[in-house]
Formats: sequence, structure tokens, C-alpha cells
Amino acid sequence: MGFDIAERLKKLPPYLFKEIDRLRDEVRSRGVDIIDLGVGDPDQPTPQHIISKLQEACEDPSTHRYPAYSGMNRFRDAAASWFEHRFGVTLDPAKQVITLIGSKEGLAHFPFAFVNPGDVVLCPDPAYPVYNSSTHMTGGVPYKMPLLKENGFLPDLEAIPADVLKKAKVLVINYPNNPTAAVADLEYYAQVVAFAAKHGLMVVSDAAYTEMAYDGLKPPSFLNAPGAMEVGIEFHSLSKTYNMTGWRLGFAVGNAELVGGLGQVKSQIDSGAFDAVQIAGIAALEGDQKCVADMCKLYQQRRDVLVKGLQGLGLPVEAPKATFYVWCPCPQGVHSAEFTKRLLNECGIVSTPGNGFGAPGEGYVRFALTVDKERLAEAVDRLSKLSF
Ligand code: PMP
Repeated sequence: MGFDIAERLKKLPPYLFKEIDRLRDEVRSRGVDIIDLGVGDPDQPTPQHIISKLQEACEDPSTHRYPAYSGMNRFRDAAASWFEHRFGVTLDPAKQVITLIGSKEGLAHFPFAFVNPGDVVLCPDPAYPVYNSSTHMTGGVPYKMPLLKENGFLPDLEAIPADVLKKAKVLVINYPNNPTAAVADLEYYAQVVAFAAKHGLMVVSDAAYTEMAYDGLKPPSFLNAPGAMEVGIEFHSLSKTYNMTGWRLGFAVGNAELVGGLGQVKSQIDSGAFDAVQIAGIAALEGDQKCVADMCKLYQQRRDVLVKGLQGLGLPVEAPKATFYVWCPCPQGVHSAEFTKRLLNECGIVSTPGNGFGAPGEGYVRFALTVDKERLAEAVDRLSKLSF
């Protein structure tokens, strides 16, 4: 029919993983045995006690009706208790917690509450694509803060030009980080708070991976930094922590005005997460956390197989302390796109080109630890036959 797509969408590239899925399916259709280390989607099932709770909750007709816009009170209480237990930060569940239909939904809707056309949003680069795309969709202007190895993949706040800062309204941070797997400490978060307070910025902290960490590490929340509650909102997700990506459940916590603004947008657009899913989410947050520790153990073993294998091939890759991503430098002189293409076409390995997350990701590929150890060893073996 030739319907004209809206300008706001014309500005955006196709969603990165949609494109990678297409290329993967093309190679698979040629009969290639694919090892998919592309999208960060846990391969293990949701723990049984969470599934059982959903089954039970579905049988209760009271869950079949429209949910409350900001989420069930019981879910928000559970999220606040989990947060206090995990991070030692007390929240008012009525004002400082909101249920999300996955954290992507909340991150994407947040700018609609606070960003006017022309406002600058300071976004990490490379990054999970949603910060950039939702900024564009609100008419805001993303300013990309490069995440560089020499800065520990943390934005250098002092490098942001003064004229950009004048127009900036929001600063987005994401630790543990996708795609670089970097972790921020409290000292960095304290710098972010001071910077945000000085320049009148609101801080969006995407904390989807705080529970996926290794060697005993417990990454902090941004809200652990003194003063963070004055400036920030933090997005949490049950997706990776409890292998619940398909269920679409997360929550945002923090400054009551920021949480409230997001709630206003959501009430205009969606009608909340299915109550039965929230009830299952309560079982996840309040239940035995051994399932989380077990998953970390599993990913840690996989990490060790892949990282040692890659290092053995001469790639100077560092073992991630958190997330289930390995941010791997390409062989000397090889671009991300070429490496990814050869990995797919010649080894049947799906990876994500680093520059797909943003230009400073050039020279890297991201591997997700979403297949078992044996398949990772097989991936390393296939890779060892590639020559550059
Ligand atoms: N933030 C980051 C950094 C992510 O990588 C993802 C998912 N890949 C999300 C947020 C969104 O997760 P969900 O919507 O499933 O909660």
C-alpha cells in the first residue's frame, strides 16, 4: 500500500537483535549447526516454584481482571522487601516502587514523562539500544558518552561538553553493564550523584544484571550512594535473575517524583502486568534464592570455559565479573562486522558485533553465555580453525 512510516521510526535502525535473528535463520536454513551466543536470553527454565505459583494464580479468577496501573500492592511490597534485604535501602512501596511489564518497557517509557523535544539525554555508548531509541521517540536528543576500556567502561562525566550539559536533563547509566560486562562501584555512583546534583540531572540506573555476578561479588545499587534517592530511578528485572525473560516482569524504584512520572505515562499507555505473573514474581522475590546462586555458579563455569578458550587462542579477553556477557576484542586488525560474519558463516557461531551497540564498541564482539559448557568448548574448537 505504501503507507508512510512515522518520522520518529525512520530515525531508528532496525532493532539490533531482530536483524541478527534474521541472519542466523538464513545460515540455519542451510543446515548449519548453530551455536547461538547472540541475544542475552537465559537457556535454563524458570524455577519450578515460580511456575507452580503462576499455575495456581491463573486458577483464581480475581487475577483475570485488569491489574492496578502501578502494580499489585503485594508485588510492590515484595519488591521493596527484596530491595531492602539485598541493598539495605528502605523504600516506600506506595510511592517509590512501580511494577513494569519487563524493565525494557519502563526504560522505554521513562523519557515520555520527563523529556521534551530538544532535551538532551546522556546515554552510554555502546549500550542496550533502548535508551537511545526511546530518547529519539520523545523528540529528545541523545548525547553519547563513550564507554572506553581505559576508563573501565565508565562514562567520563568531566568530558561532557558544557553546552551539552546545559541542555541535558537525564543521565543514563547501566551497571553491571551490557555489553561490556563492566561493574561500577559505590565510589563511581557517588561521583554520578554529585554530578547530577550539580547539573540538575535525573539519573536513570538500569540495574538488570545486579544479581548475575561471579566470584562472590555483590554489585551495589546506584541507590546505595548517599543522595542517590534525590536524583535517581533504578530499573530492575526478574528476567535474567529468575530465567523469566518471556514472562515480562520488572520494577522501578527510587525517587518518588520520577517513579510517579513514569506511572503517569504508563497509565495512559498500558494496563499493567498480569496479576498472576506478579503473584509468581512475589514467589520469586520472596522464595529461596538458591536458584539465583545456582545460576551464577552455572554461568561462572561457562564463563571460565569460554574465556580460557578464547585466551588460549590469543584473544586478550577479560573474564567478566558480572552479567552473562563476554566482551571479546576481535583479532588484531579485524573489524567487529567482519569477525561476526566469519563467526557465523564459517563457524556457525552467533555473536553480536560490538559496534551494533554503538560506534565505540568497534573492535569487539559480545558473546552471551547461553549454551552449556560442552557447546562453548565446541565453539572455541570451531574458532581455533579460523585464521586471520
Ligand atoms: N537492560 C539491559 C541492560 C538489558 O540487557 C535488558 C535485556 N536484555 C533489559 C534492560 C530489559 O530486560 P527486561 O525487559 O526483560 O526486563
